[in-house]
Order: sequence, then structure tokens, then C-alpha cells
Amino acid sequence: HSKLRSSSNICLYSKDLTNGNSNKVFTENLIRNAINEDQLTVYYQPQIDLTFDKLHAVEALVRIKSPEHGLILPTGFIETAEESNLINELGDCILRNILRDARDWHREGINPRICINISAVQLAMNGFADYLISKIRDYELQLNMFEIEITENVLIQNMEATLNNIIKLTNHGIKIAIDDFGTGYSSLSYLDQLPLNTLKLDKSFMRKIVKADDDNTIIPAMINVSNGLQLDFIAEGVETIDQHEYLKTFGACIAQGYYYGRPMPGEQMLEYIKSFNPDRFGESH
Ligand code: C2E
Ligand code: MG
Ligand code: MG
Ligand code: MG
Repeated sequence: HSKLRSSSNICLYSKDLTNGNSNKVFTENLIRNAINEDQLTVYYQPQIDLTFDKLHAVEALVRIKSPEHGLILPTGFIETAEESNLINELGDCILRNILRDARDWHREGINPRICINISAVQLAMNGFADYLISKIRDYELQLNMFEIEITENVLIQNMEATLNNIIKLTNHGIKIAIDDFGTGYSSLSYLDQLPLNTLKLDKSFMRKIVKADDDNTIIPAMINVSNGLQLDFIAEGVETIDQHEYLKTFGACIAQGYYYGRPMPGEQMLEYIKSFNPDRFGESH
């Protein structure tokens, strides 16, 4: 009797386990395929300097173009890549895509700052900084046009290697941004201990702004903190004209979100930059 029950428990358990595994295996195969069959593509989203109404930078955002499943967003596969040792190969493939686009733009005389998301796993690897620097040089591009975006949780693992990489990158003119600020294990002490260039406030804070004259304490406070530490401040997730006008009332501020432009393929970003016109914000929304 008890044997029956336990065997049926095991059966249930192993069934769940199999389901969980097959999801992971499915995603791993998706990633491997994307790498091997050239199905990775990078989209770019503008960051706007609201003080001068000009383009500040573009952020590179990876997608998988799957023939069977369409365009797959990174939230569906970055974590799996990190867990299954595919992140370095994936990251390398993404980087080559970005550098190819950057070189194409450079040949047309367009040299925007390019922000690249880097996984904490990659940044914790010995030699990551040397790798990134030499890749950029291979494409004959300037190191100081690149910024890497890392999250606050980046220092949790292998702190020494991570710090060495950050310092080396900074010494070579590559800028560092803290992404999604305010969502992880934030510590304000990171902000002045690390050689950072930029603070990106997570989009959840922007979501609370509904009207241009809304009262909010966090956003202006974080702008002040950033100014005090001489960091660029970026508000993520700006979707509406009200949110845009809300931000316009503050001093130095950079904004990113669907209101200024959705992530778009490289050729489209080139056109966006060439015909940049602040009067047309809101049209892509
Ligand atoms: P992230 O770096 O914080 O990127 C911003 C995300 O917010 C992007 O999602 C972007 O499409 C989305 N977004 C931009 N404007 C708005 C807006 O106005 N409203 C809303 N609701 N969302 C907006 P995406 O492209 O799906 O990327 C998700 C995350 O995946 C990124 O978050 C980043 O953490 C990661 N990721 C993307 N590309 C890469 C990559 O090449 N390497 C690594 N390691 N991670 C990447
Ligand atoms: Mg980012
Ligand atoms: Mg973010
Ligand atoms: Mg994120």
C-alpha cells in the first residue's frame, strides 16, 4: 500500500522534472540554433538627451529570429543561457552583430554611443575586459563610443574578477551604466565606489507617472543623487507625452522609452539617426 503511494509520488515528481527539463532543453536548443544558423539579430532603441533635444545613445537589445517561432525577446532566453553555460557564446555572437552594425554606421559617418547589455556571468569571467577591448579594436572602432549596462546584482558573484574587469574597461574609456536601478539589492554605496558613468532608473518608477504635473519623490531625488555623483541619469520606460513633459521639468535628464522610439533593426536606426527630429516624438507610440 505504502509502496504504491510512494511509487506514484515518484512518478508525479519525475513527470514534473521532465517537463521542467524539456522547457530548458527547448530554450537551449533555440539558443544553439540561433547561434549556429545566424538567427540572432540586434535591435536598437534611442536614448534622448532632454536638455538639448538630441540623441544621446542607442541601446542594443538582442532578439532571436526563429523561422518557426517568430521574433523571440531576450527575457525568454537570457536566463537560460546564463544557467547553461551558453551565455559566453551567445554574448560573443551578439557582440559581433553589434560591432558589424557599428562599423556599417561608421562608414556612413554615423557614430552614436552604443550601450551593450552584459550579463553578470560574463563580467565575472577573468579576461572579459581584455576580450571586449580586443573585439572592438578588431572592428577598428573607438573604445570610448561604447558603454556597458550591468545590473546592481553584478557584484554578488566573483566580486574580484568583476571589479578588475570594470576597472580595466573604465581605464580604456569604456563607460559603465547601472541598469534597472532600484529593483535589485541596491546599495547607494556602489554608486560612489564603482567607476560608473550612468544610472538607469528602472522603468517601474516611470510607470507611476500619469500626468505631467504628478508629484513623485523618487525620480527627482534620484536625479539629484546622480547629479551629485556626476553620473548621467536615464529614465527608462517613457511611453507617454505626459511622462516626457514630467521629465522635461527637471534639469539634466536622459530618457528612453516607446515614446521616443521602440527598439528597431539596425538599418532603421540608421535612418532614425539621419532624420532625427524631436518634433516627431510620439509618432512611433
Ligand atoms: P533592459 O536592459 O532593461 O532593456 C530595456 C527593456 O525595456 C527592453 O526589453 C526594451 O525593449 C524595453 N522597453 C524600452 N522602452 C520601453 C517602454 O517604454 N515601456 C516598456 N514597457 N518597455 C520598454 P527587451 O528588449 O525585451 O530586453 C529585456 C532585457 O533583456 C533587457 O532589459 C536586458 O536585461 C536583457 N537583454 C537584452 N539584450 C541583451 C543582450 O544583448 N545581452 C544580455 N546579457 N542581456 C540582454
Ligand atoms: Mg539595458
Ligand atoms: Mg533596464
Ligand atoms: Mg532588465
